[in-house]
Amino acid sequence: MTETVECIVAGAGIVGLAVARALARAGREVIVVERNAWIGNETSSRNNEVIHAGFLYAPGSLRARLCRPGAERTYRYCESRGIPCRRLGKLMPAADEAGLAVLARLIEAGRAGGVEELELLDGPAAARLEPALRCAGALHSPFTGVVDTHALMLAYRGDAEDHGAMIAFSSAVTGGDVRDGIRLRVAGEDGSETAVACRVFVNAAGLGARQIALSLTGLAPRFAPKVHLALGRFLSWNGAPPFGRIVVPLGVHLADGGAFTPDIAGRGKFGADLVWVDKADYRVPDDLAAKFAGAIRSYWPEVDESRLSPDYAGIRPRTWGPEAGNGDWTVSGPADHGVPGLVNLLGIETPGVTAALSLADHVLELLGIAPAPED
Ligand SMILES: Cc1cc2nc3c(=O)[nH]c(=O)nc-3n(C[C@H](O)[C@H](O)[C@H](O)COP(=O)(O)OP(=O)(O)OC[C@H]3O[C@@H](n4cnc5c(N)ncnc54)[C@H](O)[C@@H]3O)c2cc1C
Repeated sequence: MTETVECIVAGAGIVGLAVARALARAGREVIVVERNAWIGNETSSRNNEVIHAGFLYAPGSLRARLCRPGAERTYRYCESRGIPCRRLGKLMPAADEAGLAVLARLIEAGRAGGVEELELLDGPAAARLEPALRCAGALHSPFTGVVDTHALMLAYRGDAEDHGAMIAFSSAVTGGDVRDGIRLRVAGEDGSETAVACRVFVNAAGLGARQIALSLTGLAPRFAPKVHLALGRFLSWNGAPPFGRIVVPLGVHLADGGAFTPDIAGRGKFGADLVWVDKADYRVPDDLAAKFAGAIRSYWPEVDESRLSPDYAGIRPRTWGPEAGNGDWTVSGPADHGVPGLVNLLGIETPGVTAALSLADHVLELLGIAPAPED
């Protein structure tokens, strides 16, 4: 027997929860299908928890268009709900003239994209903000902050459920057919499959999204492009945080784990580094401190690497690979693939936490559904 539901969302990460919230607030019947036993168990709880200001993405990309409005809404939402978030500010230090030129270009592009508050500080001005920082100068982004991502997801879930949405945990979307309406197969914990028909299906399954898109009979394979996995490991800092702001070095130093993020609880972590992998493995080896410390020394020569210890790891799903530079999310709706009611979200890496509210509204727009105004 086939059950019928108006809207199904695959994935209860921050994006799926924000989409479910938006659909439910727009008056739709929604069921979220989540393969784990709890919300946000994958990438949404394995990231930097930074609210990005929106100046690091290719001009005109979805990431660039949705980051800043999403960040502004997220700050307002957190403030109205008492969700822990702090607008700490971010510094991007440069060691030399070449680095300063990179920062100047970032500032120019950022301002052109509407991130007007960016400023270039000289070395002494940067050190006045962060006395431990050694650099020739630094980009200062006062808007950037940190948020308690789990509290944010709980709030999105609460809003969705308050408007009638339900979450089916320990259930996975295993396949479907979109040739004549949308019919999905959903497997329960015991492996038994149920057929479900729906008018709207939003595939927000993170690392599982490509597999779902590939399994939809009737969807052209080009709407399920390869997803590359960029592993990021974090090392916790044992001691008082050396910086009060987020500090992000340029280039290889960032990829080697040199970024520092203070967290909401008053501690701090370094990372994530960036390593391309073939499969998800969240183990953090105990020999990363020397690599991370090498990157951190580019702006903090006194770092004591014995205070760095393995913490957690996350995977950035990217529809662009190592050679492709600054790519974009791959979001396709009915106008792209011709399947009414279907939206696929692939490669939703940074700034997915920051932009989730705006991305959810974008999904509704692709579906021709008017989002309800925020309270
Ligand atoms: C190292 C790192 C640092 C980052 N830092 C930041 C940051 O500072 N700021 C920021 O804005 N963003 C950051 N991001 C990006 C951000 O974490 C992601 O964009 C965001 O969490 C993606 O959310 P999601 O809901 O799409 O995916 P997920 O959180 O992965 O959720 C997808 C859900 O789908 C479920 N699922 C998978 N397959 C199926 C299936 N077949 N059926 C049912 N359910 C399924 C999974 O169990 C999961 O719960 C970072 C990411 C990484 C890896």
